[in-house]
Amino acid sequence: MRETITYSITERQKNSEEYYRKIGIFASEVLNEASATLTPVAKEFVKYIEEFNLEQVRKLEEYVLELISFGILWHTYAGLTLEVKHAPLITLSKMAEWRKKRQRLKPAIDFFRGIMLTVLLLPGKKRKTEINLPNFEQIDKVCSWFEATGEFREEALRFIRWRAFWSTLKRERFEKILTSIALFTRWFERRSLEVLGEYTKNVESFLEKSKTRYRWREDRISCTRTRLEYHLNMIGAEIMNLAFQDDFINTEITSVLVPGCMRGRPFEECEAVKVKEGLKCRGCLSKCHVNQLKKMGERKNFDVFIIPHASDLSLWASKPGRLKRGVIASACVTTLVESGWELKRYGVPAQCVLLDYNGCKKHWHHKGIPTQLNVHELKRILNSKKQ
Ligand code: SF4
Repeated sequence: MRETITYSITERQKNSEEYYRKIGIFASEVLNEASATLTPVAKEFVKYIEEFNLEQVRKLEEYVLELISFGILWHTYAGLTLEVKHAPLITLSKMAEWRKKRQRLKPAIDFFRGIMLTVLLLPGKKRKTEINLPNFEQIDKVCSWFEATGEFREEALRFIRWRAFWSTLKRERFEKILTSIALFTRWFERRSLEVLGEYTKNVESFLEKSKTRYRWREDRISCTRTRLEYHLNMIGAEIMNLAFQDDFINTEITSVLVPGCMRGRPFEECEAVKVKEGLKCRGCLSKCHVNQLKKMGERKNFDVFIIPHASDLSLWASKPGRLKRGVIASACVTTLVESGWELKRYGVPAQCVLLDYNGCKKHWHHKGIPTQLNVHELKRILNSKKQ
């Protein structure tokens, strides 16, 4: 039987169909729960965006998801972050960007980032009491920390805009909003555990066992996400698919992006060839999941690229005079939502499919377990496109 590292959405089933049924229902429940408290705030925010012409207004669900994310990430990290006294946050956030744009320098940058993360950004102690009603200085500090980690850059860019909006409100209104967010976070923590807990049973034991393993490593934050964050990302992927669907179905060509851990052979033996977008499978192994997707793509008219973790996603943006491309990205729970936000920022019409479980050798498992996605879910997304 395959080993589950932190999560598996095929838990006790032959595939992840049951998960997709459940998460669809739970996404409706989450949006319904938010409708009385967070959705009205999102509507106020939309008016503010329109008044100051800050961006093209997006779907309301995206703004609701931003508020849910703010609540959960604040609850998870603010106590730790506010203990950081002196850290070169701007330098660290620049390093996080450089590693995306300059893949050849990534190993060296990651080496230094790993040390700096542990020494400067993760002080090891946490405030004892949670701050549910922060001031703007505290929000600014936490957002700078989010950006510096390189793991929450997209969220930080969005939270800063929320912070600007909140600063235009009367103090009582601002406090009422943050109280609603904190109450929603508590509800989500309890309810998501009931609905999604069976898929994330191993997260806590993994964190316990891995206390020292990730120290000094650049993937320390990414690989030590809490169970609540897994649940946030599961619901986030579902809400994003809902919100981004209209743009995606109007695209003319499709690319499916998969991580290297889906390969059936170790990196050194894989015969995929390097192209500008990533790697293209050459079909050297029939049972390799990438090869199977490639063959499916030949029948269903999409191409498949293997892309490295934390690669620059701006190259997927549509170019003038070319066919409009939609992207279906697959990654593990801890990274998928961040990539979804990034693709959105570059205007790439995207959908996502979770890896059924994590297993890559670089981040999760000493030998590596080839990963896979649910092809039924992939077909449902492909079939949603206008023919
Ligand atoms: S089938 Fe493709 S992706 Fe899989 S190992 Fe071979 S070349 Fe690499």
